Amino acid sequence: MGKILIIPKKIVTADAKNTILTDRAVEITDDKITSFILINEIHKEQYDEVYDSSNLILIPGFIQTHVHLSQTLFRGLAEDLPLLEWLRLKIFPFENAHNNESLKVTVQLSINELLMGGTTTFLDMGTLRYGEVVFKEMIDSGIRGFSGKCLIDINDLYPEFKSSTNDEINEIKNLAQSFHNSADGRIKYSFSPRFVLSCSEKLLKEAKEIMKDFPGTIYHTHSSESVDEINEVRKRFHKENIEYFNSIGVLDDHTVLAHCVHTSENERKMLRDRNTRIAHCPSANMKLGSGIAPIPQYLKEGISVTLGSDGAPCNNNLSIFNEMRLASLIQKPIHGTEVMDAKTIFRMATIEGAKALHIDQEVGSIEIGKKADLVLIDLDSYSNSYSDSDEAIYSDIVFSSTTENVRSVMVDGRWIVKDRDSLVYDQREIITTGKEELKNLLKRL
Ligand SMILES: [Zn+2]
Repeated sequence: MGKILIIPKKIVTADAKNTILTDRAVEITDDKITSFILINEIHKEQYDEVYDSSNLILIPGFIQTHVHLSQTLFRGLAEDLPLLEWLRLKIFPFENAHNNESLKVTVQLSINELLMGGTTTFLDMGTLRYGEVVFKEMIDSGIRGFSGKCLIDINDLYPEFKSSTNDEINEIKNLAQSFHNSADGRIKYSFSPRFVLSCSEKLLKEAKEIMKDFPGTIYHTHSSESVDEINEVRKRFHKENIEYFNSIGVLDDHTVLAHCVHTSENERKMLRDRNTRIAHCPSANMKLGSGIAPIPQYLKEGISVTLGSDGAPCNNNLSIFNEMRLASLIQKPIHGTEVMDAKTIFRMATIEGAKALHIDQEVGSIEIGKKADLVLIDLDSYSNSYSDSDEAIYSDIVFSSTTENVRSVMVDGRWIVKDRDSLVYDQREIITTGKEELKNLLKRL
């Protein structure tokens, strides 16, 4: 590792003041950012590596707070269905058919896609079986993230795809013990009940209880995504989804709820009072016809909102750029043009994501002492802004850029993507293996 110097055109820090630095290089010592150095005061000979990128913009690595690594292999195979049918007919049978090999390659494909698109940290929902495969791949790839066994002990939609309550509880204890804070803290555990309809109350509560033994873990589940789902929740519990979670004591500031498209005033009060975090997934909400989450209202009420691409079969990609752009655009016709400005969106995808996961002391912005999770992005393409002003930079990233603009990616001070080449994966090879494993998996249905 040693000492690396990156010399970018500008540094978009995402610090508390939204500082944008020019004429500064960033010094990285091992895994941390150690100094900003004036460009005319650089002594290149002091460094093991000097990455001269004076045409590129340095930004913090993006943070996605809701993804499904296990589903990437199923992209394009679950089209034009609403949530519960999508799960019943496609996604639960597919996930149920995973074995070690198919899970390994879907995780590789997911991590590769996330990294190539500038995402350096994620919160993954996991799947029912072979959880250790996910963690081993996360460790080997160099990415930062949370994952956990997806908890399902009730499944009326697809009864084969579940486990017993006791087995679920034993397994999450083992997985958290083995993998939480592994790889020098880069990998963390998340307790991941799939959603309220797939978990017994005992399992939901026990998972929250076990969390107390593992500080720094996250409780990650889906909530209030579609109308059919909340109608079913109402039928079963005579409560709204978030009211039910609140009544069993699983909401707090270490809980991340994906979606929250349909919420009542009372539920929003609970989210605010408990400081519960929302992972907003606009592409998935549109594609499954779930609706448009009232994000401007959440933000106005002081509720934390971050971004995730959800699963590849409901998106159909894992690009944070698509989520940023959509998160802004879908709200403007409803709430007015002034809401969801590019700077707010950029922060949701960086520092706010880090805060939601309680890792903002380490990542989420470019500041001295933080981990070097960094992305170099090229904003000089023909489809980007022609202005070099600081004002144009956020809208250029949020509205005009795609994953293709990402040039190089570093996590924990280690280059993982350099000049658009993955240093971790042979992309041809994982795509070929993915296709083979998908064929095998479909035969197991
Ligand atoms: Zn999801």
